[in-house]
Amino acid sequence: MNFPSDIFTGQRFAVVGLGRAGLPAARALVAMGAEVTVWDDSPAAREAASDLVVAKPEMAGLTAVILSPGIPHRLPRSHPIAAEAIAAGVPILSDADLLYRAVRASNSAARFVGITGTNGKSTTTALLAHILTEAGIANQAGGNLGTGALALPLLDDDGVYVLEMSSYMLERLAALRFDVACMLNLSADHIDRHGDMDGYAAAKRQIFARQTDADTAVIGTDDALSRAMADTMKRAIRVSEQDAPIGTGATLPGAHNAQNIAAATAMARALGVADTAIVAGISTYPGLPHRQELVGHRFGADWINDSKATNADSTARALACYDRIVWIAGGTAKDGGIEPLVAFFPRIAHAFLIGRDAPLLAATLHTNGVAFSEAGTLGDAVAEAADWLQHHENAAKTVLLSPACASWDQFTGFDQRGDQFRSLVKGLA
Ligand code: ADP
Repeated sequence: MNFPSDIFTGQRFAVVGLGRAGLPAARALVAMGAEVTVWDDSPAAREAASDLVVAKPEMAGLTAVILSPGIPHRLPRSHPIAAEAIAAGVPILSDADLLYRAVRASNSAARFVGITGTNGKSTTTALLAHILTEAGIANQAGGNLGTGALALPLLDDDGVYVLEMSSYMLERLAALRFDVACMLNLSADHIDRHGDMDGYAAAKRQIFARQTDADTAVIGTDDALSRAMADTMKRAIRVSEQDAPIGTGATLPGAHNAQNIAAATAMARALGVADTAIVAGISTYPGLPHRQELVGHRFGADWINDSKATNADSTARALACYDRIVWIAGGTAKDGGIEPLVAFFPRIAHAFLIGRDAPLLAATLHTNGVAFSEAGTLGDAVAEAADWLQHHENAAKTVLLSPACASWDQFTGFDQRGDQFRSLVKGLA
């Protein structure tokens, strides 16, 4: 269903940051009758918006500024346009907040689910959407994952929006009330933008803002900070990786996915899905690309694409799922490098390092007596891993790309890194 073409008539918005979500958001607002100006600091991004009114926004008379999640309005330093908006008292909103307003202005009572946490957001969002689809409930998943919120179509009263919410988006909500909201876990991340761990936790907590007692709150209790949050919210449903079977099927391995399964189960129940349908949905979940995605079986080993693991915490989750691993890692390392992974080193038969910070990772492996080679590029790492397997029969069962590093030094993002790995593996004889 399309949104009515007049629901934002008379309202003026500035959309700043014309990326994956910004551009479709601007076009959607225009289609809903709003007056919209768009801006991006990059001339190329402005070029791509030539069908829209491109101009640095004037604050007078603006209903709101829709600021891309990648652009800070506070820390480490407020973007000049955000600073102007704050000075003029113009609200800075996430596109998700506008989706909510548009749905309600269209007189639809469609329900909203919001999912946040440091890790597991995309998996839990996709899993819940799959369970709902299998149970015959109309739904749309998006937000931080896949389609930007305002590019999602209008659902009627029976429909459910399943929105993955980053902490940046949660800081920019004013109206959106989630019927079902979930906070999966908290570990140190994005501290530059939130000041400190308390600031980060406070942003995550916004997922429950405006909820009433009739709404559902789900909190994962497998880490201390999340437990503390749950302790302050009596009505919260507490879920743990202990509640769900570990190692369900090929697409949801490991304790971390047990947490995701437990959370999705609690939310599906709150949305009225029967347990039998939930179990059926979990068992047919196809998995997401780049998250422990099996991309092939070559030279006696499973080749797994976990390119999404851009920090040691995520990679730890993957290393815990396999033994006798040929590990491909490297890129732009995070603080602490791969030191937090030392406990998993006995599982590694050989490591192939790529990217800018390979020497840093090499030093840690060397100190801990792990065999490794510096391959340089992903192409060389895949070729050398294939060669290694042929010379070390039965020495490894898994080749795991789980870089524990950002990809920016060699790729446009983790998805390009993972796509390249998949095609390199498919290309192996
Ligand atoms: P996000 O969308 O929050 O970044 P994803 O679902 O894309 O999370 O998973 C990213 C990576 O984080 C996965 O490859 C996995 O290694 C790890 N991960 C997934 N779920 C969890 C969890 N519940 N707890 C900790 N780590 C997780």
